Amino acid sequence: MNYDQVMEVKTMANKCRTIAIINLICGIVSSIYLAYKLGVEVDIDYRGDLDYDRNWLLTMCIFAGGCFATYMIFVIFVSIAEILDNTSLITSIESTTNSTLNKLENEGRKDDLKKNNGWRCPGCNKINPDYIETCSCGEGKRP
Ligand SMILES: [Zn+2]
Repeated sequence: MNYDQVMEVKTMANKCRTIAIINLICGIVSSIYLAYKLGVEVDIDYRGDLDYDRNWLLTMCIFAGGCFATYMIFVIFVSIAEILDNTSLITSIESTTNSTLNKLENEGRKDDLKKNNGWRCPGCNKINPDYIETCSCGEGKRP
């Protein structure tokens, strides 16, 4: 994964957080609305008129259910954001570690080659071990 892809993952993580917060606000508002609308029982009273009675238990249950569903969606999006963040963090640590290791490895190899009488190719500057007679670029070993 390169730098651009890491940034892309970070942007996606931030989008997930934004969605989570929007979901939280909309979810609570619609829970209140649904509880308000559905938490009433309609009876016909003795005069034959419609009688709206708020059932507070039902109202609270609808509100609690709505909040719970909202919270579950919130947790899912926040978790995805966390996973994405960790992925980009791990990837950037990984690539830093890899380039450091490569550097150390190359330096170590160069030291080894000097000790073992390696030779530097005059054509491409690559250091080749003593037993190699021709460099990968085609240039031959010079005495
Ligand atoms: Zn060469």
